[in-house]
Amino acid sequence: MIEQLQKLPGVGPKTAQRLALHILNRSEDEVQGIAQALIDAKKQVGFCQTCFHLSAQSTCEICRNRDRDSSTICVVSDSRDVIALEKTREYDGKYHVLGGVISPMDGIGPEQLHIQPLVRRASTPEVREVILAISPSVEGETTTLYLGQLLKPFTKVTRIAFGLPMGGDLEYADEVTLARALEGRRELD
Ligand code: ZN
Repeated sequence: MIEQLQKLPGVGPKTAQRLALHILNRSEDEVQGIAQALIDAKKQVGFCQTCFHLSAQSTCEICRNRDRDSSTICVVSDSRDVIALEKTREYDGKYHVLGGVISPMDGIGPEQLHIQPLVRRASTPEVREVILAISPSVEGETTTLYLGQLLKPFTKVTRIAFGLPMGGDLEYADEVTLARALEGRRELD
C-alpha cells in the first residue's frame, strides 16, 4: 500500500506511511468507500467533447450552462486551471482545455494537443474573443505565441496579464492575483 500511495504526486515516503497507517485504522466500510470513490471516478469521468474539461457526461456542466457567455473562450493547459479560474468567480465565459503545452523536448507538438477543435470553435461567428491563460513558462510562452498567430485571423485574441510569476502555475496563484490577471488581459500583438 505504501508503494502504491507513493506513486501519487506530492506524496513522499513519510506521507505514504502516514496515509497507510491512517487507512489501516479506519473501518473496513470506510476504506471500501474511499476505494469505490476512486474506481467510480476513474470509470465515470471522461472529457467534455466540446472543451475537453473533465466531465462525467459527454458535455461538461460549463458548456451546458446557457447563462454563461458563449462569445468568450478562455484557453488553459489543463483542467486544474479551469478549477482555479472558476474559484475567482470573475469569469463567466466558456473554456477550452488544451491537454498540455507545446514542448518539443517532451515530444509534444500542436497535433498532440486539442488545438484543431479550438480553431473550429474560434472560427464560428458566435465567438468574439479568445483569452489565452497559459502558465508563463518557456513552453507556455511558445504555446501562447503559436495560438495567437493561429487564431488571430478568426477572432480577437487576448492574453492574461503577467501579474503571475514566471514559471508560476495558474493553479497556485491566489484568487485575487488570478482575477486581476484576467481583468488586465491585453490583445496579442
Ligand atoms: Zn465543456
